[in-house]
Amino acid sequence: MDTVMDLTVYGDEELLTGASALINSLDAKLSVTNENSDIYAVNSGKTAAVSKETAELISFALSICKKTGGALEISIYPIVRAFGFTTGEYRVPAAGEVAELLQAVDYTKISLEGETVTIPENMLIDLGSVAKGFTGDKVLEYLKENGVESALINLGGNVQTLGAKPDGSAWKVAIADPSGDGGYAGAIEIANKCMITSGNYERFFEQDGKRYHHIIDPKTGYPADNGLVSVTVVGESGALCDALSTALFVMGPEAAAEFYKTGGDFEAVLIKEDGSVLVTEGLKAAFTPLGRYKDAKVTVITHD
Ligand code: AMP
Ligand code: MG
Repeated sequence: MDTVMDLTVYGDEELLTGASALINSLDAKLSVTNENSDIYAVNSGKTAAVSKETAELISFALSICKKTGGALEISIYPIVRAFGFTTGEYRVPAAGEVAELLQAVDYTKISLEGETVTIPENMLIDLGSVAKGFTGDKVLEYLKENGVESALINLGGNVQTLGAKPDGSAWKVAIADPSGDGGYAGAIEIANKCMITSGNYERFFEQDGKRYHHIIDPKTGYPADNGLVSVTVVGESGALCDALSTALFVMGPEAAAEFYKTGGDFEAVLIKEDGSVLVTEGLKAAFTPLGRYKDAKVTVITHD
């Protein structure tokens, strides 16, 4: 998953070996670049029988693509690749190239029958927006099945917890300052929950004074520029939090607030470009702004 992972488990040390093996095996199935992965098989052959886990994640991701009106779009990959986010050879594709690539982007054309995935000839899919959260869920399931009652796993800044700390208190997890300076914008107390962030500071390059980051707005084919710099989603399912952190980032603050109001079993902290913060009502008490956000304007979004 091209990231650093930390596992803290209160239990048998050998469970760490099992957890690492599980992470590596899921990565080998879900990776878009690994030539032996299920996703690589789908992208190169346009139809492939995939593992149970890959089918499960594709099915879940498609349901969220639909629910978010296409803000989450697992066939956006050709555009992510055109900007060079897969190789690090960054470039800004011309408008014509983006328009052409966009024609192949449409998750409704992905078919999943049992464990067979079929996509159109010119399409490429990628589960990068949901794979870490899904993997975290599977690791926590594995630990729980093996008797662990307290664990915290950090997959590239996405934190997923099993239970509370051994002393019964909540875990205090920080949200990165979106300036990318290594500081914190806030902290949230969670237990038995996941906390997953998407931000425009995680992977980006600059050209002619403009920032191009890795979360693409499927409506435009360019990096989402809808007023947010960071979105943290808190909930019980890592896959859901991961999918929604990406999707809400694309939506922007107003549509994201509307999405929260109309349902959904999650909470969120949205940091706007102007330095203000939106917090959903369920997180109001658990969230503490920090650092340069200490005195930020914080608005609470209610379900009403
Ligand atoms: P995340 O860090 O979970 O927000 O996922 C971002 C990654 O998902 C990017 O690096 C791309 O590979 C991919 N991606 C970018 N834009 C989208 C989108 N609108 N829907 C789904 N995946 C996306
Ligand atoms: Mg995500």
